[in-house]
Parts: sequence; C-alpha cells; structure tokens
Amino acid sequence: MASRILILGGGFAGIAAARRLEKSLRADEATVTLVSRENYSLFTPMLPEIGSGNLETRHVVTPIRAQLSRTTFVLGNVRAIDLAAKTVDVEHVIARSKQTLEYDQLVIALGSVNSTFGLPGIDERSIPYKTLEDADRLRNHVIAMLEMAAVTTDPDERRRLLRFVFVGGGFTGVEAAGEMADFFRSSIHFYPTIDPLDVEVYLVEGGKKLLPDLQAGMGEYSARALSRRGIRVMTESLVAGADDDGLQIKDGPKIETRTIVWSAGVKPSPVVAALPIGTGRGGSIITNADFSVPNYPGVWALGDCASIPAPDGSKVAATAQHAIREGPVLADNVLATLRGVPTKAFDYRSLGMMASLGARRGVAGLQGKFLLTGFPAWVLWRTYYLLRLPGLDRRARVAFDWTLGLIFPRDIAELRVYAHAASTQTPGGAEPAPAALDTL
Ligand SMILES: Cc1cc2nc3c(=O)[nH]c(=O)nc-3n(C[C@H](O)[C@H](O)[C@H](O)COP(=O)(O)OP(=O)(O)OC[C@H]3O[C@@H](n4cnc5c(N)ncnc54)[C@H](O)[C@@H]3O)c2cc1C
Repeated sequence: MASRILILGGGFAGIAAARRLEKSLRADEATVTLVSRENYSLFTPMLPEIGSGNLETRHVVTPIRAQLSRTTFVLGNVRAIDLAAKTVDVEHVIARSKQTLEYDQLVIALGSVNSTFGLPGIDERSIPYKTLEDADRLRNHVIAMLEMAAVTTDPDERRRLLRFVFVGGGFTGVEAAGEMADFFRSSIHFYPTIDPLDVEVYLVEGGKKLLPDLQAGMGEYSARALSRRGIRVMTESLVAGADDDGLQIKDGPKIETRTIVWSAGVKPSPVVAALPIGTGRGGSIITNADFSVPNYPGVWALGDCASIPAPDGSKVAATAQHAIREGPVLADNVLATLRGVPTKAFDYRSLGMMASLGARRGVAGLQGKFLLTGFPAWVLWRTYYLLRLPGLDRRARVAFDWTLGLIFPRDIAELRVYAHAASTQTPGGAEPAPAALDTL
C-alpha cells in the first residue's frame, strides 16, 4: 500500500514541502494530504502593506489549490495530534464536520501564534499583527480612530486617538510602524480638522536595539531612519501591561493611546504545545538536523514551529526565507526514509535579511558583512519579494498596486464600520456602539 504523507499547515514551509513531494514522488509511491485552516497561503513580508492600505488584501495571498496539483487539500482546523495512534483530528473550517486522518509520515508545519506573555490587559486591548484578518482589522481601526479624532473636541481624548503604538522592534513592528507613517503622510489631508503634527507613531522595543536578531547595523540604521520621519523609537522599554487609557512601560511612563499593535512575541500553536515531545526556542518542537523528531520515527517538523539545529550549533532562524528552503530538504528526507536511504542535514546559509522602512527606504544586511541602506535597499526589497511572491498573476497585481501607490493617496474607506452597523442595528433604531472602540 502507498505510504500516507500528511502535512499540517499551508504556510511557507508546508507548501514548499508539498511542492517538492509532488515533483519527486513516483506514481503510487505515496499519497500526500495537506491540512490548513485557510485555503490560501499568506505572503507575510507584504502584510504591513495591507495594514497601511498600500496593497489590496487578496493580492498577497495565493490559493493553496492553485499551488498544488497532486496533493489532497483539506480546509480544516487541526484539533489534536495523537503520535501513538498516528492520527490527526481535523474539523472542517466551514462545514464543521470532523474527521480523523491516519498517517505513516507526519510533517508538522503549523507556524506560530501571537504571544502576549500573559501581561495584564494586553490580550484584550491590543491588535496582533500576524494574519490577514489582523492587518485588515488594524487598517479599519486606524481609519476609525481618525474619523473619531476628526469630531472629538476633548483634547486629551483626541491625543489618545491620534497616538498609535507599535510594540516589538522585530521585522513586523519596524515595517508596520514605517508603513503606518506612510499611510498618515498620504491620507491625513482628507481630515482637514486634524493637524498632521498631532498624529504620533511610537515603536516600543524591550531590547537595546531594533531588529535585535539581525546583522549589526540594521537595527541602528532603522532607528535613525524611522526617527527622522517623526516615529518615536523607544528601546529598552519593557511593557508592564495595558488598561483603558493606554500602555504602561515598566519603570517608565504610561503612553496614553487607543491603539496598541502587538508583535513582540510568538509561541507555538496550542496543538503543538499539547504534544508530548521535547520543546526548544519559544516552545517549538526540537528536531534533529534532518527535521526528524527524536523518538518518533515518521514524524517531522519545520518552519516557525520547529527548533532545528544549524551546522554552527545555533538554531535555524524562524523566517520565511528559511522555511521555503527547509521544505524541499525535508521532502527529500521523507522520500529517503520511504526508500530506505540516508537522510541529509539541513545546511543553508542565509544570503542576508532585509526590512522595508516605508518612505522608499529600506535596510539590507548581506552575507553578515555588507549593509545596504536607503533607496537602493528598498528597491532590492521590492524586487526580491516581488519575485518570491507565488503566482505570476499575484506578482502582476502587486506591481500594479505599487505603481498606483506612487501616484494616488491611500484609500481611507473604513469598510468594517458598515458591516458591523448592519449586523448590530438595534430594533428600536438606536445607534449601534461605535465599532472602532470595541476593537481594543
Ligand atoms: C508581518 C510579518 C512580516 C514578516 N516579514 C518577513 C520577512 O520580511 N522575511 C522573512 O523571512 N520572514 C518574515 N516573516 C516571518 C515569516 O512569516 C515566518 O517565518 C514564516 O511564515 C514561517 O513559515 P511557516 O510555514 O513555518 O509558518 P506560517 O507561514 O505561519 O504557516 C503556518 C500555517 O499553518 C496554518 N495553521 C496553523 N495552525 C493551524 C491549525 N490548528 N489547523 C490548521 N492549520 C493551521 C496557518 O493557517 C498557516 O497557513 C514575517 C512575519 C510576519 C507576521
């Protein structure tokens, strides 16, 4: 009987593994099934541009069915993994029907979820920045804050409404804060009652510098570039919690605000956390260098949910760049196991890392030695990521959005307000509560 290969997660890592298996598997050698809770994969490097309205939401996702041809796709939420019985419980996302899938080879590529480390008030009052829904929600929330500020006469409340705080000085926080500043620059003239100088963007980082895990110089340059554009960069500022008035810095000031965007930490998905296996960095699954999970033959893990040893003794970075390179090597190792030949260790040296800082500025650390900054780094960022975006049609759409973005201001339509109002209209005709406020 053909082996059953089951892949959990349709992100960078899961899709890369499935595509390689489709190419390399002989007919009847094995069946491949991929389970994911969205029917698309999200190109996260462009997510901050969704939040700022520079790109259309659909243009940064690629349907999974369009990327895979020989793989059976299941649109499901993974509810539980039983490593002893070799089964996975899945609930269909729309039909809510449940099924138990059996496997011979299990590939876990479930990524990570946002973590607020149990800090008081943060879960309830912050917007995470990880999924497409998060980015859309943030964009609508920010526009709603501008709409409210435009009619608010209380100067204290107005300041809170116009103060936008991003927490986390990694990729996401840095890119999102830069993009948001671009959004305000491009659209604030639509609000004649708001003085552009009253809009404040904060970037709060607990460590000594921005982009702490990246090449030396990248964080320093990013802080300078963002500060020059008026973004208040606060390093060595640990968050203590949040309440209705804003964000409290440990041993520091309270930043009064109605907008806290949280990208300061991740943890593994609850399904992974429940597994009886060794965990490493941030609770991720400890694997061998060939992605196999110790003590569980036929179980593999990769991407953000895995802690994979690198040749130099460190851990492989949890980035999209690494995940898309891990997938094919893992697929080859699964095949090698099926064919009874030795597996190979993952050995990839990053060519560099890049961040887009908004205002046509970027920063790129190349091969751990060279630093490219400013406009050339931004052009490199855009070119590289455009070419990596899956699907020729998506690339064309994003290129078109970017071109239009050079000419027209950002769109300030706040779509969610109307959807919310329609579904919450009270029978007596009373005004529904402002939708914007319940997002915090
Ligand atoms: C805003 C942002 C910007 C980033 N920018 C960059 C960048 O510029 N460069 C870079 O290299 N990296 C970047 N990253 C990091 C990069 O996105 C991750 O390292 C990468 O996505 C990891 O790939 P993965 O396949 O392991 O996980 P993911 O891409 O997160 O995929 C996991 C998949 O599993 C699915 N899933 C999770 N739980 C379940 C469940 N219970 N049931 C069913 N399906 C489930 C998810 O829906 C998702 O499809 C960025 C991340 C963010 C959030």
